[in-house]
Amino acid sequence: MKPAPTRPARILILASKLGYQTRAFTDAANKLNLEISFGTDRCHKLDDPWSDGALALHFENPESAAAEIVAQISGNRPDAILSLGDRPTATAAHAARSLGILTNAPESVEICRNKLRQRETLRRAQLPVPDFFDFAAAGDLDTALARAKYPCVLKPLSLSASQGVIRANNEAEFREAVRRIRALLESPEIQVQREPNLDRILVESYIPGREVAIEGLLTDRKFRALAIFDKPDPLQGPYFEETIYVTPSRLPESDERALIDCAVRSVAALGLVTGPIHAEFRINENGPWVIEIAPRPIGGLCARALRFGSDKISLEELILRQALHMEWSDLEREKAAAGVMMIPVPRSGIFERVEGQAEAEKIAGIESIIITAREHDYIAAWPEGNSYLGFIFASADTPEAVEAALRESHAKLNFTLAPRLPVKHPVTGRVPI
Ligand code: ADP
Repeated sequence: MKPAPTRPARILILASKLGYQTRAFTDAANKLNLEISFGTDRCHKLDDPWSDGALALHFENPESAAAEIVAQISGNRPDAILSLGDRPTATAAHAARSLGILTNAPESVEICRNKLRQRETLRRAQLPVPDFFDFAAAGDLDTALARAKYPCVLKPLSLSASQGVIRANNEAEFREAVRRIRALLESPEIQVQREPNLDRILVESYIPGREVAIEGLLTDRKFRALAIFDKPDPLQGPYFEETIYVTPSRLPESDERALIDCAVRSVAALGLVTGPIHAEFRINENGPWVIEIAPRPIGGLCARALRFGSDKISLEELILRQALHMEWSDLEREKAAAGVMMIPVPRSGIFERVEGQAEAEKIAGIESIIITAREHDYIAAWPEGNSYLGFIFASADTPEAVEAALRESHAKLNFTLAPRLPVKHPVTGRVPI
């Protein structure tokens, strides 16, 4: 449905936190003369501390959050609703359906949000997924151990950013992984999010191979790959924080075709029809394997590595154009190779300072370095952690040069992470993770 020409088109963006990514959407919306508003489930007790008028929502309860959106927007019906990050996807789909806006079916989005249901759906459609089973996080470990084959990967059903994802090569490592995941799931940091499905743990066979991420857009069920990112670090575990993404891919064309074909079939099997897709795969001598499909754009600041058309428009602008039926489909990613490093957290601690940034920025090919960790805040390493110290962006003629620039630049950065004293929580008596 095209927006009425008499008023600017309206877009509602749902996000767990407002920050760099929402600002990038605001910039793109301003450029396109759109009205943009936000809905978040950040702590609203402070009563709109950022004066951004964002709707206060509870994404853990998508249907009532959607009803809240419908009630609060009154006459200002948006023309499109987008979700950033995994948490708001179901709320966005329910709200869009209630308002008669083109959307993915809430059922499809909910399947994507639950790692077990996604695996079941893809396996039923004969897509290449690892073997898997799930068990109660608080339940009897012996039954799970009897089913386990090694190496395997254990993960909570609905966290993201590789939080709580752990490889186990034997029984002792399996037991230790379960202990860590249980502690993570019981931690106040996770409990406060009231994520559904966190009472079970998924166990999958470990898929060796090279990992890629595909960023795509769906229009009327038609999938277009915007970029294939190689992840040149080995990602063999035991924990799986992301590091480097580089595009274009250095895989042979036949592999790229197989991966895109697998993405197209996976998206269809999940019943997704419209909007941004971020998909992760591994590829080895048996072909592609689906790691995960998410109906949302790439997270954090990573989208900055992507620019389209001769005007080098942002991914955010492309997504807004697609959502509002504006011209976008002839825009290709720029010719140069580009990449980003999500700066890993070497160990948990209080982030005191970073040195060497000026030197790191001087490396040829480096476009920018953005430190997102806040000074004096505690930052957790994986598998308990889920946010990076920052992002390094590079661009060059070849993917090899991009990767080398990112590594060289990162090597110049020196982060000071001070240990945190193990203070017990006054109510729960727990030491924070
Ligand atoms: P999240 O949604 O938290 O990112 P994923 O299921 O995508 O969780 O897993 C995170 C990372 O863990 C993947 O990008 C991959 O590197 C690794 N991983 C997950 N499952 C497997 C598997 N079955 N085999 C090998 N690696 C895996």
